[in-house]
Amino acid sequence: MNCCGTKYPANTLSCPECGRISLFDHAAISQDRWSQGVDSVSSSGLYYFTQSQLFAEFLDEKTDSTDVFRITLLLFILAFLPMSFLGVCVALILSVGLFFLSPERHNIGIAVMFTVFFLFGLYFSIGFWGFLGIPLLVMGTMCLWHTPQQMLSFAEFQRLSQVWFQVYPNDKALLGSSCVSNRIPLGVQGLLLVDQDILVDFFVHNSFVLKSNIAVFSSRFISDLPNSDVPIYFLHGSGPHVAPILSSRSVIDIGWVEEDLHEHPSFREFLKRDLLPVDLLSPQELLEATRFAVQKKRSILCYFDT
Ligand SMILES: [Zn+2]
Repeated sequence: MNCCGTKYPANTLSCPECGRISLFDHAAISQDRWSQGVDSVSSSGLYYFTQSQLFAEFLDEKTDSTDVFRITLLLFILAFLPMSFLGVCVALILSVGLFFLSPERHNIGIAVMFTVFFLFGLYFSIGFWGFLGIPLLVMGTMCLWHTPQQMLSFAEFQRLSQVWFQVYPNDKALLGSSCVSNRIPLGVQGLLLVDQDILVDFFVHNSFVLKSNIAVFSSRFISDLPNSDVPIYFLHGSGPHVAPILSSRSVIDIGWVEEDLHEHPSFREFLKRDLLPVDLLSPQELLEATRFAVQKKRSILCYFDT
């Protein structure tokens, strides 16, 4: 491999001189944008983050080619509509103008001739509009409804992620779960149940457990948990598996269900996405909102009301 005048072996992931990772050269996202994303999700290295949270950083990246296509089509339609009526206008102006200029305008034959001339122009304009204008309007509407494809697919994200975290192993990324257990430590003030194993690591590594004295468990272990007097808080995505958990134990539901998202103006966009809402909060937001929800025994969405 050759980069910035430095030669290095092909199996090396990045240039030892400038740090350029060649995999990013043909990727949908630049190495700089990726690096910015890592910086932003971790609040400049302050918080541990999951891969889903990092992916959520790049969710808004769209293909611009679709947008260019859309704008071109709309401009064409906008230009086309007046054009198609131009025939009517020209026929009207010509026939009325010539009729009044004509010295023989009292002659009924001339009047009939100009009327026919005008109707002919009108007929052509409507025909032209019908053949081209209506399909164009339909196409334009479809283009407006079309949501552009995500530029960075999850598969590509994973490929890049694998190389990135090999080159930068010290980034605070949680790449696999290691903290899953079903033993309740003595003296905790509550239990927090989460939907994904990796979120257990997230709360442990970001000192949530230490600071709030609340143990965190994966909801996979709900049936194995011994009976205990401490309150159980349940933080989940929205899915059908939630109902049996809620009925099997008495838990305090801190969010969220899909209806919450319908109601809440700031979170309506979450419904369009393919990820769990918890993944879409930055690590800082998720930690603060959960702390708030546990203290107030309310949904974490209430944190965003204030
Ligand atoms: Zn280089």
